[in-house]
Amino acid sequence: MKTEFTLAQLADPDIAQADKILRACVHCGFCTATCPTYVLLGDELDSPRGRIYLIKEMLEKDKPPTKEVVKHIDRCLSCLACMTTCPSGVNYMHLVDQARVRIDRDYIRPLPERLLRDLLAFVLPRPGLFRLSMTMARLARPLAALLPSTKGKPNPTVFSRVRAMLQMAPTSLPAAGPQGGSVFPAQGPRLARVALLQGCAQQVLAPRINQAAISLLTRHGVEVVLVRDEQCCGALTHHLGHEHDALARARANIAVWLGEADRGGLDAILVTTSGCGTVIKDYGYLLREDKDFAAAAARVSEMTRDITEYLSGMTLSAPRQHGDMVVAYHSACSLQHGQKVTLAPKELLSKSGFVVKDVPESHLCCGSAGTYNILQPDIASQLRDRKVANIATLRPDVIAAGNIGCMMQLSGGTSTPIVHTVELLDWATGGARPEGLVSRAS
Ligand code: SF4
Ligand code: SF4
Repeated sequence: MKTEFTLAQLADPDIAQADKILRACVHCGFCTATCPTYVLLGDELDSPRGRIYLIKEMLEKDKPPTKEVVKHIDRCLSCLACMTTCPSGVNYMHLVDQARVRIDRDYIRPLPERLLRDLLAFVLPRPGLFRLSMTMARLARPLAALLPSTKGKPNPTVFSRVRAMLQMAPTSLPAAGPQGGSVFPAQGPRLARVALLQGCAQQVLAPRINQAAISLLTRHGVEVVLVRDEQCCGALTHHLGHEHDALARARANIAVWLGEADRGGLDAILVTTSGCGTVIKDYGYLLREDKDFAAAAARVSEMTRDITEYLSGMTLSAPRQHGDMVVAYHSACSLQHGQKVTLAPKELLSKSGFVVKDVPESHLCCGSAGTYNILQPDIASQLRDRKVANIATLRPDVIAAGNIGCMMQLSGGTSTPIVHTVELLDWATGGARPEGLVSRAS
């Protein structure tokens, strides 16, 4: 794609990077076929190629984005299916990230929308506040019926977004899990020592996931540390275009993780929420121009592994038998497209004795995508219903996924139990049965 940036514009490293990405695009349109918003809405401007043109024009003209541009960029899930499909290696992720930052800086959203986005950016990364907000949302849930429905409205209002938020509030919250600063020694000889990301929403909604990871790792000789003073990884605010907040969180985490690595040694930083893993693996890129943090950020990205990536390099103990338990493996976009981790989770589950089935149209997002299911509730629920219908064709006993966002999103559309991959692996190798899993075998 031909670009027309001036030399002065190209002196900005972000614009130089955008120029490189844009020039790689040959406008072939292969990416449109796998883009969930194009598949649903059929509008070229809701396809990756259409958005690339919009971003190009916005950056070249260096003017505040128009309402139309914002609408189509906001509808992008950042699922990155387009990156998997693109034959030219266009790094759409870094381009759309830049567009979101530009929109946040230069576009004045209507006040109620601004307030809602700021509220999400403030509450979600803070587990204490998030827990409180979930309790309040649960109490206010009956009010959701009074608010306008989101169905068939791809241009949501603040009220329809609040309705979606209330409907998503869980009916109960589990007790809090272990706190930062906890160390879980390896059982038997210590073979490795890792940090486990505590996550922000996940530690409130499903602390059982990290508990299963800790149980599995320690039983296999790995010491697990929950690093003190760790923060939200920044993914939530990063996807809202709040760059300063996201980078401040990245720097704070790099400091505490590398401090822990220098004190006690760390072989890896493990992540059980793939949306977070994708962003932490990108810290090296995000902080490449920060002379104080660039090298440290690259080191942290290098040390970061999805839990299934790490486990696939270990020898797990012989599995218990689970009869013919059928697992529908839902491949989270952040894991399959963002991190290219596709085979490890399925191979681990198969080796652990489960019958693993791929979900038809597995490349399409379930509609979770961070705060997307709140900010774009109609598109999100269409994608969820499509995903759930595809899963139902497999008649599974359980759905496994590697991302809490997907698990919460799918749970709104199916009664089939949904667990994290690591919960099944822990159970299969001697740990506790995942909560809520119907017993077909011990
Ligand atoms: S597939 Fe790649 S090269 Fe083709 S239009 Fe999409 S982003 Fe551009
Ligand atoms: S990230 Fe997903 S929704 Fe956005 S353009 Fe690419 S395929 Fe479409």
